Amino acid sequence: MTSLDLKGTPHRRFNPLTGTWVLVSPHRTQRPWQGQLEQVQRETPPSYDPSCYMCPGNKCAAGAHNPDYRTTFVFDNDYPALLPDTPTADTNLDGLLVAKGEAGICRVLCFSPRHDMTISGMEVGISSPLGRCVGATVAGIGRTSFHQLCADL
Ligand SMILES: [Zn+2]
Repeated sequence: MTSLDLKGTPHRRFNPLTGTWVLVSPHRTQRPWQGQLEQVQRETPPSYDPSCYMCPGNKCAAGAHNPDYRTTFVFDNDYPALLPDTPTADTNLDGLLVAKGEAGICRVLCFSPRHDMTISGMEVGISSPLGRCVGATVAGIGRTSFHQLCADL
């Protein structure tokens, strides 16, 4: 059995008090954080923000550039909660720490090229661009051997 790196590998941990499993993604501490800066809320947010990691054409957190997308855009999360190559090893330390490796895919779904768009302002439904994008993404994940899907909307 392969040993599981509990400090760097996505895994599930069993909580013997509740009898439930909890997803743990310790490698997520490597995500960039720009610090919380509070600003006075503008009446109308900009439709494009040149410093946003998800706006069309902008540089992502990991350095790649987004395409100049016009509807929805889906890409693999640069700092995913789950990793596809995580071993399926188990750990059991005297029943106090029970964990299982958990593989998966995390995708980011930009539901609009407009930085100021909210879901409440969009057409939603199964035949909308957003609905079709979510359906295609979930269907694509369903063709993999993974059972876990994380989506950052
Ligand atoms: Zn944006």
